[in-house]
Amino acid sequence: KMAPIPAVQKVVLIRETGGLDVLRYEQDFPVPKIGNNEILIKNKYAGINYIESYFRKGIYPSEKPYVLGREAAGVVVAKGEAVTKFDVNDKVAYLSSHTFAQYTKIAETGTVSKVPQDSTDEQLKLYAGSLVQALTSLTFVREAYPVKKGDYILLYAAAGGAGLAFNQFLKKAGAHTIAVASTDEKLQLAKEYGAEFLINSSTDDVLARVLEITNGQGVEAAFDSVGKDTFETSLNALKRKGTLVSFGNASGPVPPVTITRLTPKNIKLSRPSLFGYIATHEEWESYTSELFDLLHSKAFKILISKTYPLKDYNRAAEEMESRRTVGKLMLEIPQ
Ligand code: NDP
Repeated sequence: KMAPIPAVQKVVLIRETGGLDVLRYEQDFPVPKIGNNEILIKNKYAGINYIESYFRKGIYPSEKPYVLGREAAGVVVAKGEAVTKFDVNDKVAYLSSHTFAQYTKIAETGTVSKVPQDSTDEQLKLYAGSLVQALTSLTFVREAYPVKKGDYILLYAAAGGAGLAFNQFLKKAGAHTIAVASTDEKLQLAKEYGAEFLINSSTDDVLARVLEITNGQGVEAAFDSVGKDTFETSLNALKRKGTLVSFGNASGPVPPVTITRLTPKNIKLSRPSLFGYIATHEEWESYTSELFDLLHSKAFKILISKTYPLKDYNRAAEEMESRRTVGKLMLEIPQ
């Protein structure tokens, strides 16, 4: 028997853009009302992603007040009249905005999947943390630049949440991954997850090392989520006909680029978003079922390095943005 659904809930939100000080933990935010084809999910865990900082800083636009969060897992507690695919009590994992909350609604045809009904809390946590970062790496190595066996690939932020996932999928594809991170500890972790060559960005010249590793040729592709500070290096590190996949703004957004910059080496430049690769329900189903199979068979691992209570999200954000974290960070939602 389910507890009744309350009118208000605990959430982490912003009412204005800015620094860490604009993050608020509020206890009386309205619980969303569901429409005919929506379900209401009581969240158990939500995954933390670097993207929250872009909404908070205003790099990405949002309507205020804006409840943060992009992924979670929990239990369906209500469904609209037209919903056929889900029932109350189903355990689910899903991608949606506004998951740093006790309750989130989503359309039944959206990016939401049932997970095994006997999932333990630890398994639910893993599902909740497996969506944004792992699906980003999986879709990007297939579609943003289809990685081939023998490719040399430059990977930034290689020990972060997305980074550890990229290392594994690149290795599976048979690539030689050149991992960049800011400490030797982070690089060792990247190696454990599949990296072959290691570059410490605090002490090494990244471009010089890449050229040394590739006998002066450069890499077939660079996966660069650092953005502004590394764009030039990534471009210069590419081989003729190489691909730059620029997909984040950790150091700030990349300024406008003159397209003739791509001409000397016939470069391809891609600036993808995960959501553009899982926009249809078929794409979502296909990629999540592949990912969940890999997780179940332990052929793919997620390192959950830290779990914070929802009210302490500001501490998690501070640690993540000051580059002190590795792997996946999670929030436990109060029940
Ligand atoms: P991470 O756990 O990777 O944390 C960010 C990492 O970026 C840091 O640990 C740090 O690693 C590195 N970094 C480099 N320069 C800076 C800087 N100036 N300030 C802060 N950090 C810096 O986060 P996520 O795994 O959540 O995301 C990784 C990146 O991928 C983010 O940029 C994110 O926006 C992007 N992303 C994009 C998606 C898309 O659809 N386009 C989807 C998912 C993620 P180090 O200290 O080793 O350099």
